[in-house]
Amino acid sequence: MKTLVKNGVVINPATGFMEITDVLIEAGKVSHIGDIADVTAEQVIDATGLLVVPGLVDIHVHFRDPGFPDKETIATGAQSAAAGGFTSVVCMPNTKPSIDTVETLEYVLRTGREQAAVHVYSSAAMTYGLEGTELTDLDSLKQAGAVTFTDDGRSVMDPQLVYAAFQKAAELDVPISSHCEDHHLVKGGSLNRGEVSRQLGDPGIPRLGEELIIARDILFAEETGARLHIQHVSTARGVQLIREGKARGVKVTAEGAPHHFTLTDEQALTSGSMAKVNPPLRTREDVEAVIAGLADGTLDVIATDHAPHTLEEKGRPLAQAPFGMVGLETAVGLTLTSLVYPGRLSLMDAISKLTVIPSAIMGLPSGRLEVGLAADVTIIDPQKEWIVDSDKFKSKSRNTPFAGMKLKGKAVWTMVHGDVVYNEL
Ligand SMILES: [Zn+2]
Repeated sequence: MKTLVKNGVVINPATGFMEITDVLIEAGKVSHIGDIADVTAEQVIDATGLLVVPGLVDIHVHFRDPGFPDKETIATGAQSAAAGGFTSVVCMPNTKPSIDTVETLEYVLRTGREQAAVHVYSSAAMTYGLEGTELTDLDSLKQAGAVTFTDDGRSVMDPQLVYAAFQKAAELDVPISSHCEDHHLVKGGSLNRGEVSRQLGDPGIPRLGEELIIARDILFAEETGARLHIQHVSTARGVQLIREGKARGVKVTAEGAPHHFTLTDEQALTSGSMAKVNPPLRTREDVEAVIAGLADGTLDVIATDHAPHTLEEKGRPLAQAPFGMVGLETAVGLTLTSLVYPGRLSLMDAISKLTVIPSAIMGLPSGRLEVGLAADVTIIDPQKEWIVDSDKFKSKSRNTPFAGMKLKGKAVWTMVHGDVVYNEL
């Protein structure tokens, strides 16, 4: 099977390549990049005016399997990824049971291979049951394919245990991904602690709770030499702590999520529980800091924290609704609309933060569009204006505060290893 993608803006951030040209895909691999005059291909795509980029990589998704198939399965999560232009994802371990044993990890990876339209990688839990009391068998979990260790959704509070995990991660050269939240400071709130939380009678989630753990984990990384990846940074001072850590030479990377670079806590006034996410949407000043952090490289990666929940759960009052929103199918539109079109981030940097950089952090064999490599390719229509309609999501869940929002830019064609897994061209 030969596929010829003609006349697109071909971008490979790994080499800084950006040219209007053609891409030929044969037997699942990219066989040629450059103008092609006479080739007979079974499939010819006219990509005039479209971006042809490496398949996107999201290193922070919740596919809810095992345990919560009414929210999402690995198959539906992968469909959602493909529809968003993502060809590789890293699953978080807060499933039921949590991904804290080789057996559960192998279940996730095997199900991904057998049922998913995209490449499914997985993290493993740092502590059994994400309970923060006993370290998992990090050696065996790495052996079995875990690409990062994390208790995402929670922070391990016991410093002795965190220290041991960082030492082990340094020895294994596996990054630790940190969800940063001091549970002693953060109790019971649903929204950023501030004007809006007071107005809605919510106890609020203080920025300090996130920042204390960011600072702590940067120190652990500095002390042990471990690689640290800070997840979904939401506060201005959090961004600054990471910037300072990097300047000191600490091996710290970090991610910004589309909702954190687009929305403020005021969204809860109109979207209610749909705007409840952890860490919470903060203030305009924090949003600006997250954008500045993405622009200057302090925040290396754009990751969605795709977190499906049923409408029944999200229909509960603020205090009882679970945290999280789906994100895979709106990420490209939000990145272009909130960052690239307003001139805050170059197109090359945006694609880089969605491909080669996250791949490099997690050691994935993806994120590049180069001759000889597996053909994971995404086509983005940068001009396409569309209204987010959650009823059309491929995800099993519809929980998004972006429903009804007009975005410019959309993934329209996704190829995984030479197979087209999404097509709205
Ligand atoms: Zn998290």
